[in-house]
Amino acid sequence: MVNGQSKYDIQAVRKDFPILDTQVYGHPLVYLDNAATTQKPHQVVEAMVQQYYTANANVHRGVHHLSVVATDMLEQSRETVRRFIDAESAQEIVFTRGTTEAINLVASSFCQQEMQAGDEVIISTMEHHSNIVPWQLQAERKGIVVKVIPMTDEGFLCMEAFEELITSRTKLVSVAHVSNVLGTINPVADIIRIAHAHGVPILIDGAQSVPHMPVSVRALDADFYCFSGHKVYGPTGIGVLYGKREWLDRLPPYQGGGEMIGTVSFEKTTFNAIPYKFEAGTPNYVDATGLAAALEYVEKIGMDTIAAHEAELTHYALEQMSQIPGMRIFGPMVNSQRSTVNDVRGSVISFLVGDIHHLDMGTLLDRLGIAVRTGHHCAEPLMHRLGIEGTLRASFALYNTHDEIDALVAGIRRVSQMF
Ligand code: PMP
Repeated sequence: MVNGQSKYDIQAVRKDFPILDTQVYGHPLVYLDNAATTQKPHQVVEAMVQQYYTANANVHRGVHHLSVVATDMLEQSRETVRRFIDAESAQEIVFTRGTTEAINLVASSFCQQEMQAGDEVIISTMEHHSNIVPWQLQAERKGIVVKVIPMTDEGFLCMEAFEELITSRTKLVSVAHVSNVLGTINPVADIIRIAHAHGVPILIDGAQSVPHMPVSVRALDADFYCFSGHKVYGPTGIGVLYGKREWLDRLPPYQGGGEMIGTVSFEKTTFNAIPYKFEAGTPNYVDATGLAAALEYVEKIGMDTIAAHEAELTHYALEQMSQIPGMRIFGPMVNSQRSTVNDVRGSVISFLVGDIHHLDMGTLLDRLGIAVRTGHHCAEPLMHRLGIEGTLRASFALYNTHDEIDALVAGIRRVSQMF
């Protein structure tokens, strides 16, 4: 950063994303729905196309050339993920369909073995349904108890209340690193430290953090950490569960079949070593290639550069949006002084304007080419806490520009005036 100006060549970066040239109803697309999914650079799509054209074969079980190449590529992708989140070993990286499947895996395997009826898992008010419902399913199946960390009106977790929730029956804590609605960056290092001080392991939902900030699972000392490929410029259908080796070794498999076995007989089946024990069926190896290409793409730009760019955009958007009459922004308000690293709020802004329904505003913004999300954002309990039905949500990524924020602000003003 020089004089608050980023040296980051965003126009060059935007050329990597062909979809950003789309016109919507005669307007240039302004894509601000990145918390739902990000667009893909051609490097990611081409890596996958190349594999289908030149290196496609089922992995692991083959002795033939293509199978060996595809297997090596899968393991190389696993190593790229390991490096990206700074895990100790690639054996601690399990490929899943996404964050949701990763959380369901932990909920299922952990509860089956480590929890009895009456044992407790702690989640928070601002969780995505993917980090609520898997625990509720286990509550029904096993009688576990789900406890919820409350939240302040400003959108911060109540840390004192969190510590008070922990009892001798608490077996696991599972919280989001960054809220997909409020943008709140939770103090996960403190949450992990507190949980560990009570001997409780912790799962972090990194769906909204991994795409936006450097993450080291080792520095955090997380027991489990998960994210989705499609939110970090990679393909859909692939995500990651990181688990500390001792936990993954200890937990039972989630699904059966494929490479997860050691030997199978009708009398007894033994299981493969980690991570394969948790990867039943043909792995999603081509999407793993795409995910690795996506992570390499963001590594090349630099997570610090991306975080700084998005922090600047978020500050600018908050400043501009706050001036719109009737604007109500949810989540922590940061001061308007621009900082390179924003440690309380990520690049997600949920808002409402006056009494305009979020769906009406979203539909009219779409007519101006502006893509924002509307609704409860898969966080209905958080909506209840806020006393609302839903919001609009603008969320920024590495390719968004100040001009696009200006278009959003002008669009909101224009739509507001129509009501
Ligand atoms: N957790 C959070 C915080 C999210 O934002 C999302 C996606 N909106 C998920 C979990 C679920 O991710 P996926 O649908 O990719 O499994």
